[in-house]
Amino acid sequence: MTTDQQSSASQPPRPLGLLAELTHRCPQRCVYCSNPLELVRKNAELTTEQWAQVFEQAADLGVIHVHLSGGEPTVRQDLNELVEAARQAGLYTNLITSGTLLDEAQVHRFAEIGLDHVQLSIEDSDAELADHIGGFDGAHLRKMAAAAWIGDAGLRLTINAVVHRQNLHHLEEMIQLAVSVGADRMEVAHAQYQGWALKNRDALLPTRDQLDEATRLVEQYRQRLDGTMAIDYVVPDYHAIRPKACMGGWGRQFLAVSPDGRVLPCHGADSIPELTFDNVRDRPLDEIWFDGEAFERFRGVDWMPEPCKSCPEKTKDWGGCRCQAFALTGDAANTDPVCALSPQHDLVEQAVEEATTTDEPTWQYRGFGDGGDVVQVDGSIASDDG
Ligand code: SF4
Ligand code: SF4
Repeated sequence: MTTDQQSSASQPPRPLGLLAELTHRCPQRCVYCSNPLELVRKNAELTTEQWAQVFEQAADLGVIHVHLSGGEPTVRQDLNELVEAARQAGLYTNLITSGTLLDEAQVHRFAEIGLDHVQLSIEDSDAELADHIGGFDGAHLRKMAAAAWIGDAGLRLTINAVVHRQNLHHLEEMIQLAVSVGADRMEVAHAQYQGWALKNRDALLPTRDQLDEATRLVEQYRQRLDGTMAIDYVVPDYHAIRPKACMGGWGRQFLAVSPDGRVLPCHGADSIPELTFDNVRDRPLDEIWFDGEAFERFRGVDWMPEPCKSCPEKTKDWGGCRCQAFALTGDAANTDPVCALSPQHDLVEQAVEEATTTDEPTWQYRGFGDGGDVVQVDGSIASDDG
């Protein structure tokens, strides 16, 4: 069956995108990192050959794009082989990197072996604040060098900026930075409150005024840069009254493979304790996609409670995000509380109120296990219970 064939009525659609989380290792410690709180160790990671099989099976299943991600994917010594394997399988290859470990020779090597696209993250336009948010001194300067090498090598470039209460005042400068390094595209993504970002929500949630100003700026620059640089904009759920169709619907367009081979309907799904995940070491990817317990659990509309069950929006937003429903209500099968029709929508309103009235927010840097140091957002040391 080819990728453009319609799935039969009895089968779910085939996935278009694969997030290959090659590793959880990363030199940065971003306070909004969406990786799980318990990270996979190096000795549990899939091998080169196992990833190559995943890429072949994904292409057979209908996947078009592979996003080579992490953690920081460039810590993998076999990354060139993995890019080549993905290309050989016929996949469009997108490397999602912080750029902090790249050198000029490696970037040119990527171009030689046919890497299609690089998505480079920045934390801010100001080097000092950027390094503070990412928890890695010198990272910003390394990223700027990487951006120049990517341009010299002729690779397509997207600049990815995660925005939140601590850096939104620099949004205009971040857009100008993306233009100055010759990016084809910029993604301005409000932090999604999963993983470490949920731990640090009180320090990161923007105010309504900040959100409105950011939206105005993005619209202004979209018009000004029309034909020069496109801007994608991911708005924060917490100020919305309807949820997004998370991942285009659970088990409908997208799958993620974790560093140790577990196959997830979205990269945050292992935060939901009731789910068990098949592993590519034990089962072929197509069987997991069509029959895997975790994919079947929230696929389609049969699992939905009220008010989703009788709502006309249910095949547009698919009831929102399951990880968010679990994180906020303790039950992944609840309507996403971001929806104003949810009986638990007040949880979201309370979170916004609490976060945006916190005087001295602390944040915790991403780390292995329970991880990171807790510090005041301004960099001073917080008390133990802070
Ligand atoms: S968000 Fe930051 S810490 Fe997390 S994987 Fe990306 S660069 Fe590393
Ligand atoms: S009730 Fe459910 S289906 Fe309707 S808009 Fe809200 S989340 Fe979407």
